[in-house]
Amino acid sequence: MPDSSSTQVVVIGGGPGGYAAAFLAADLGMKVALVDEEVNPGGVCLYRGCIPSKALLHAARVLTEAREAARFGIEFPPPKIDANRLRAWKEEVIGKLTGGLGQISKQRHVEYIRGRAALVDARTVSITGPGGAGERQLGFEHAILATGSFPAMLPGLPKSPRIMDSTGALDLTDVPKTLLVVGGGYIGLELGTVYAALGTQVSVVEMLDGLLPGADRDLVSPLAKRIDQIFHDVMLSTKVAEMKEVRNGLEVKFEGGAGDGRVQVYEKVLVSVGRKPSSAIPGLEKTRVQKDARGFIQVDPQRRTAEPSIFAIGDVAGEPMLAHKASHEGRLASEAIHGQKVAFEPRAIPAVVFTDPEVAWCGLTETQAAQEKRPVKVARFPWGASGRAATLDRTDGVTKLLIDPETERVLGVGITGVGAGDLIAEGVLAVEMSALAADVALSIHPHPTLSETLMQAAEVFYGTATDIYRPKKS
Ligand code: FAD
Ligand code: NAD
Repeated sequence: MPDSSSTQVVVIGGGPGGYAAAFLAADLGMKVALVDEEVNPGGVCLYRGCIPSKALLHAARVLTEAREAARFGIEFPPPKIDANRLRAWKEEVIGKLTGGLGQISKQRHVEYIRGRAALVDARTVSITGPGGAGERQLGFEHAILATGSFPAMLPGLPKSPRIMDSTGALDLTDVPKTLLVVGGGYIGLELGTVYAALGTQVSVVEMLDGLLPGADRDLVSPLAKRIDQIFHDVMLSTKVAEMKEVRNGLEVKFEGGAGDGRVQVYEKVLVSVGRKPSSAIPGLEKTRVQKDARGFIQVDPQRRTAEPSIFAIGDVAGEPMLAHKASHEGRLASEAIHGQKVAFEPRAIPAVVFTDPEVAWCGLTETQAAQEKRPVKVARFPWGASGRAATLDRTDGVTKLLIDPETERVLGVGITGVGAGDLIAEGVLAVEMSALAADVALSIHPHPTLSETLMQAAEVFYGTATDIYRPKKS
């Protein structure tokens, strides 16, 4: 057993940021402790976020594909959904992955300490075991704060078991007849897709004038069209004015936009209006660590806080609140602690919304380019011209490249369509490696695959696409 009274690096929070940081710090030869309340590392992402939601989205996709196979002559009887088995399978997936992380911690000799951490000062942490059991103090040379985030709630809602956040929705305690999703962002659309596939009548209320604000509108458009078919109702530019518990559900009154003045009863409500950083770490005030107005811990390019011995990474250290950004920052913080000259300066943090179709983008977006008045050429390849998309019966997609008109470098990539989340990886590489549109066009892509659409979009830029006639504009 390592000496429990002091360590070189203590990582507080066992999510994808925290465990990535801890594992690399151990690989670099440092003595490391990782603190989290759960039995094994995993954090929000594995226990209550990315993984359970993607497991349920996979089930949703199977249901949708089985239903839509009727279009090409294959009909299945209506599915029987056993919510208990589905829930158990999702838990099994979580268990396998988190159990694996527990094993890897041991193999790397990372001391995994179950408990809640509080800072005593800039060199000491106090850890209280699960359920308040036992307290232990641990001295450290460096700490990495990786405490993540929690769901934001709307003010003024009644206390009701019918109101869920993402964790409640992922618990899948039942499949309600009707569900109102408040917030048409990542969580609302992903989990709305799950419940719609399971047979729930899903309605979405979004206060802004489009779904997935932050994504380019042409990427959202194919998704919005499909959502119009699979969801019961989408109310844009609308807010919840009032919500009260009634005998058979929650009565909701809307204001503004498409839903103005409407009053509707829903069996359940999912509130998905964003997340807040978990930066209320006890004892933080005893250090020089600073937070911004929204509660994010302020860090420099190495992820060091204003307290030189303390780093912060992942959701608690700023947007975008994404697992892969957290892991990258975590590894970087460990390298910085090890004395390496590193800085967080990605050109392309991919964003993927795992809806049906998926929406993915990286690097510069058209919205950003317009805001910054930055000249870009946009080359689009519609999936209607993709052989692979036709064979999948899913031509509802588009791949676009944002290209610097002077240098012809790829600055950003956007993809909507089935599998866009996997396809965007090539875009990330292109942007990070400063690839030219010609590099993408001249790389032989396998046929017939959706990956070809990246090459085909690059060909569109040169006015020479084989599969679509788009002559270059002079
Ligand atoms: P977290 O994963 O939030 O982990 C923080 C950990 O710290 C938690 O275990 C917490 O209990 C612990 N902790 C907090 N305070 C203390 C303390 N004082 N002492 C000890 N431990 C403490 N991102 C993606 O990239 N892809 C997705 O598909 C995706 N899907 C998502 C789906 C849902 C429903 C949700 C809610 C989020 C999703 N996210 C997704 C976001 C992703 O989960 C987060 O960006 C990611 O988990 C952040 O990692 P983190 O390491 O910063 O912290
Ligand atoms: P979000 O920021 O993605 O979306 C919240 C939505 O709620 C926005 O569209 C916002 O305009 C809307 N909204 C806010 N207040 C409202 C109100 N009063 N009435 C109606 N609409 C309102 O937040 P989220 O969906 O809660 O997800 C939180 C974060 O978790 C995401 O931003 C993302 O960082 C992460 N996440 C990522 C993934 C993924 O990578 N696939 C999946 C889930 C969550």
